[in-house]
Amino acid sequence: MTKKYEPANALQDLKQFGEFGGVNPSITDSATYTFLEEKTMIDAFTGEAQGCFLYSRHWNPSNKYLSDALAALEGTESAWVTASGMAAITTTLLQLCSAGDHIVTSVTTYGGTFAFLHNYLGKFNIEVTFVNVSDLDSVRSAIRPNTKVLYTESMTNPMLQISNIPELAKLSHESGVQLVVDNTFTPLIISPFQLGADIVVYSMTKFINGKNDCVAGAICASQEFINAISDVNSGTAMLLGPVLDPLRSSSILKNLGTLHIRMQQHSRNAMFLAEKFQEIGLKFNYPGLPVHPDHELMKSIMNEKYGFGGMIAIDVETSEVAGPFMEKMQEAGVGYHAVSLGYFKTLFSNSGKSTSSEVPEEIQREIGLSPGLIRFSVGLDDDIERTYEMLRGVLEEMQLV
Ligand SMILES: *Cc1c(COP(=O)(O)O)cnc(C)c1O
Repeated sequence: MTKKYEPANALQDLKQFGEFGGVNPSITDSATYTFLEEKTMIDAFTGEAQGCFLYSRHWNPSNKYLSDALAALEGTESAWVTASGMAAITTTLLQLCSAGDHIVTSVTTYGGTFAFLHNYLGKFNIEVTFVNVSDLDSVRSAIRPNTKVLYTESMTNPMLQISNIPELAKLSHESGVQLVVDNTFTPLIISPFQLGADIVVYSMTKFINGKNDCVAGAICASQEFINAISDVNSGTAMLLGPVLDPLRSSSILKNLGTLHIRMQQHSRNAMFLAEKFQEIGLKFNYPGLPVHPDHELMKSIMNEKYGFGGMIAIDVETSEVAGPFMEKMQEAGVGYHAVSLGYFKTLFSNSGKSTSSEVPEEIQREIGLSPGLIRFSVGLDDDIERTYEMLRGVLEEMQLV
């Protein structure tokens, strides 16, 4: 058996020094770069001069450090960092697909991704089929001769369904299809590339950065694919220009060093709440407990020591209950009523009315997204029992337990 990939060790083993020996790499605060010889500049444009920086929409040293760290995290040959998670997703899909091509995607994805696939790609004549990604037969039968991409999220938003990445990789590769996986909810916990995915995309806005001070994204892939997206003549990243600012790259890189500790604490706190919710008979969704339909699947593909993640959803049935419930939780100090996730404070929002509002109501019903679903991104609270008591107080006040 091959040795299991250890993403945190791979990150730890990177030696990235600043030019003056700084333990943090220096920030390269430049849009353009000088060349001593004209020939080198010409060679850089034709791709013949390796390792030269030309212009920061193409590559910037600070972005290269962060990209190398993300490549190490996934075990891919290379990576490219983007100005948002949506930029990572759209750049990847527009690079892989041309007019007349076809994408098969999980019907449950992040709302922005759903909107891009459902409302936007049509104008380039790229067709999209939405499937229940847990139903492997329906995935297989949705693949056509012109299918280029199978798209899914490791842990889907907001249903917290787990994608069977090894099986999805197998069936996409049988048909020459590239498997693209959004791993935003489960960095370190799931290593999609190690499980057979071809390309891993991230919104770094969430757990990876963990500070909610910026939006950013990443594409982890083969050197060939990263070269293709950054090609000066035909690369989607180079030509659409969704490059990350190097000052941000530098700050995100520093936050990567604590990712393993943060993920463990997010998971521990979410597990604590899940067990309490089960005890009091609340309707909830957390893949860490055996009652979740994908619990065994997750166990079989995860890097166990990081836990089952910080995302948990409860169902209070209607949006009329969810609204005041969330306002009261914020008042009580449980966390903030805000979209997004992966922050050190707990964040919660009503998925159907916020981050999944792009998904039409009939599809929400079809995928079982209840109008009263409140998605929590559980924070790093030192005393989660105290937080639970606050939450429980609100549940009692609203007569939900
Ligand atoms: C937030 C999110 C995105 C989009 O990322 P941005 O950084 O907001 O552009 C994509 N996928 C998932 C799963 C997300 O949670």
